[in-house]
Amino acid sequence: MKKRKLNTILFITILSIVFFKASYSQNYTVSNAHSHNDYENPIPFFTAYGQGFGSIEADIFYFHDSLFVGHTFPDIQKKRTLQDWYLNPIKNKVEANHGYPYADTSLPLQLLIDIKTDPYITLHKLIEVLSSYTSITRANKFKIVITGNRPKPNEFESFPSYIYFDGDLDKNYSNNELAKIGLFSADFTSYSKWNGKGIMVKADREKIDSIISSTHQKGKKIRFWASPDYLNAWQQFIKMQIDYINTDHIEALGNFLKNWGSTHVTLTKKQETYLPNFINDGVDQPVTKIILLIGDGCSLPQWYAGYTANGGALTTFNLKHIGLSKTSSADNYVTDSAPGASSIATGEKMENRHLGLSPSGQKLNLLTNYLVDKNFSIGIASSGDVSDATPAAFYAHIQDRDSSIEIIQQLKNSNVQILAGAGNDKINKISILQKKHTAILNNQILDSLLPNYTITHSINDLSEHTSKKTLVIDEAAGLSMQEGRGPWLSQSFENMTKSLELNKSKQFFMMIEAAQIDYGGHANNIEYVVKELIDFDKLIGKAIQYADENKGTLVIITGDHETGGLTLHDGDYKKQSLSAQFATNDHTGIPVPVFSYGYRSYLFDGVYENTALFNKIKTAISNVKLKKEEK
Ligand SMILES: [Zn+2]
Repeated sequence: MKKRKLNTILFITILSIVFFKASYSQNYTVSNAHSHNDYENPIPFFTAYGQGFGSIEADIFYFHDSLFVGHTFPDIQKKRTLQDWYLNPIKNKVEANHGYPYADTSLPLQLLIDIKTDPYITLHKLIEVLSSYTSITRANKFKIVITGNRPKPNEFESFPSYIYFDGDLDKNYSNNELAKIGLFSADFTSYSKWNGKGIMVKADREKIDSIISSTHQKGKKIRFWASPDYLNAWQQFIKMQIDYINTDHIEALGNFLKNWGSTHVTLTKKQETYLPNFINDGVDQPVTKIILLIGDGCSLPQWYAGYTANGGALTTFNLKHIGLSKTSSADNYVTDSAPGASSIATGEKMENRHLGLSPSGQKLNLLTNYLVDKNFSIGIASSGDVSDATPAAFYAHIQDRDSSIEIIQQLKNSNVQILAGAGNDKINKISILQKKHTAILNNQILDSLLPNYTITHSINDLSEHTSKKTLVIDEAAGLSMQEGRGPWLSQSFENMTKSLELNKSKQFFMMIEAAQIDYGGHANNIEYVVKELIDFDKLIGKAIQYADENKGTLVIITGDHETGGLTLHDGDYKKQSLSAQFATNDHTGIPVPVFSYGYRSYLFDGVYENTALFNKIKTAISNVKLKKEEK
């Protein structure tokens, strides 16, 4: 009997631990935001309400049989009544939303009323006023919590059911009293002097952690006032699972919490990395196999985000040679992907949106053409559209990167052996027509391409078409990793090397683009970014292993520009978790790393313009002896 009782207690304890863990390992939303002294805002109530705040605070005074809102007694002269400023707007909202504070009926609202005058007289007046606001007092998902001057805890029960009270941490409440407690509040400064920068000292953190956990064990929420009030502090408070984040910066905290889901990521799987043997690294002999891997929108923050979320490991970070490429275009500090890639492909800076054209409009010689003349065969793949700027930079010359039909038509006269990727809406028409074998001859694009190119629809068909130039339009390539693209990029690398190795000279140039790191940056979605980055690193692992197994190989890994103005303000290698912020939904001007491995990899060390990559690749294949003889 005793044992059974013990088991029951144990079971309930485990259950409650699981329950509290589940209920407090929450995703933070704007419902966790508390507008401190809300009435001091230029537009009280509506600013915080408009953001969807879960809690709004108003200080009140009883004076001349009325309730005034304000922080100090002289504020009363401003004649701001609780009714005008809070009760009427809330009533209007609740009535418009059929008994709920917000149109989204899952969202709660708490009005924290801080009584500055005698609690009994003021509460009496408040209840009298509220008697004509039954839509408020009967509302769902709405709570009135009294703080400041409060009655004695053993009197809590005598107040109407819609009135709750703020709890003090140093008081011991009975169960009945606890039932009337809406939340617990505490003065942050009485536990810590932390100013919100970095992390708080361990002793303070432990004190506050224990308060939070004992409050949660009571099934209650907690708020600290007079707490540091900016991004890093909010971030730390969320980590500590403080339920209400106290703020005077409504918009900033609102935006921070709204974007919480897309700026935080925790991965559960770790991708294996490849450790190179370095035998072929830096060998000073002509390169015969060039593997250029471009992460679109990928700079140091994206690399480090992937590294952190992959548990502190990337194949790329095992490499020894690193440079920095400056990405500005001919006409702008911030480039788009057209000149970003085209400068690598031509060795010249060009204007935004242009591909393969000098600022005066002249067609520039492409790296791919130069290499074909040196008996290299060319393979290009992308986890984006085949006509997108980065792949197109290696076969097309055009004024507008978005002219996808004209771009793909230029493939006809190009020297590209294999082009693989997804098709955009216009180019998808090709694949639909090809699949149905109808009206092909009426399609202008196919008319122009089919004599020169075989068109297939899966990267796995590639090896069957080695003798002929091949265009692979594989819809799988266009999926994101989150949508289940899987190892398409790695597969394209393996299949392309098999095909390209079949040519007589055994020399090839391959450009593979991880296109969607950029998409994640534009979407300001960190999970998108890291999953694409880690997939890029998988491809890189394949390429580095190939360089170990095949003499004459050079692997160059870079980006065309940074996307998103990404910063990483917190992370945990062990938990594979990361907190990020984006400064923009567009590209930025910061340089991108260039990692290199294999024959003549040292050529890519240093800081240079992206155009220099063109000449460095030319130098890498030259027969000139580059290093001084070692004695
Ligand atoms: Zn972009």
